[in-house]
Amino acid sequence: MHKTLLALAAMAVTGAALAAYPEKPVTIVVPFSAGGPTDKVARDLAEVMRKNLGNQTVLIENVGGAGGTLGSAKVAKATNDGYTLLLHHIGMATAPALYRTLPYKVLDDFEYVGMINEVPMTLIGRPNLPAGNYAELVKWLEANKGKINLANAGLGAASHLCGLLFQQSLKIDMTTVPYKGTAPAMSDLLGGQVDIMCDQTTNTSSQIEGGKVKAFAVTTLKPLTTPALAKLPTLDSQGLKGFNVAIWHGLYAPKGTPKPVLDQLNAALRNALKDPEFIKRQEALGAVVVTDNRVSPAEHKKFVEAEISKWGPAIKAAGQYAD
Ligand code: ASP
Repeated sequence: MHKTLLALAAMAVTGAALAAYPEKPVTIVVPFSAGGPTDKVARDLAEVMRKNLGNQTVLIENVGGAGGTLGSAKVAKATNDGYTLLLHHIGMATAPALYRTLPYKVLDDFEYVGMINEVPMTLIGRPNLPAGNYAELVKWLEANKGKINLANAGLGAASHLCGLLFQQSLKIDMTTVPYKGTAPAMSDLLGGQVDIMCDQTTNTSSQIEGGKVKAFAVTTLKPLTTPALAKLPTLDSQGLKGFNVAIWHGLYAPKGTPKPVLDQLNAALRNALKDPEFIKRQEALGAVVVTDNRVSPAEHKKFVEAEISKWGPAIKAAGQYAD
């Protein structure tokens, strides 16, 4: 066949394939356990995005472990056809400083689809911890040095970052107990097997509201406005000046995913983030959906770059690495 005809035929095939996207279920990989805070954001988002993707099924696949890096690696290596996506949080930006050999390049191996939301974290304790407030917690931690179990979702997780900075600020070393996500960590905290944990409000607000865990502080500079969490003081106001950990989520596709597919995903994400029900559900969990200008792939990537520069030095100073 003539070269031009061949090219036209190829374009027609690609065009037909793209026009049909998505013609089968789309999978969003969540790099943490089911039932946890990242998973909750993903499931809520999947439900709304589905409506914006011609009612195609959007599945969630939980690939927990190694602080979110196993799931991220899986997506980095997945077929770049728009059917495998990654929903990840701040761990995307902290992992490069934490892992000597990360099996993917954060800035080179992904297409950035857009930012989703920002979520504050809270410091909570097991229900039978003998401390009713932050001042009492600090006394208890001082008195129990060497015996404290701090749960997290592995090196590179948000709970790890927050716990690391907390230990550093207090100059108290704790034994970290890693899980594949903070859903199983929460079960053990409720059961009294671990003592304390930092976790997103998307996982802790209902437990705090129901009085099921001890709530000591919010990790952002400003107190929260969500009614259930409004009374929780900040760490900053209780002696840890400047303590500020708020996390964020973004959506990614493997590098080389076709531009028309990325555009479609970005449009579906933008629409999902304007959905009043989605916004309401996020707000009830203490999360804030990002403004429309931050949902662009370019803004998303710029933000992740800035976060890598922001957290890298603090993590390196804390000297915690994995191979
Ligand atoms: N909250 C977890 C973290 O610490 C992740 C999760 O289970 O969603 O990163």
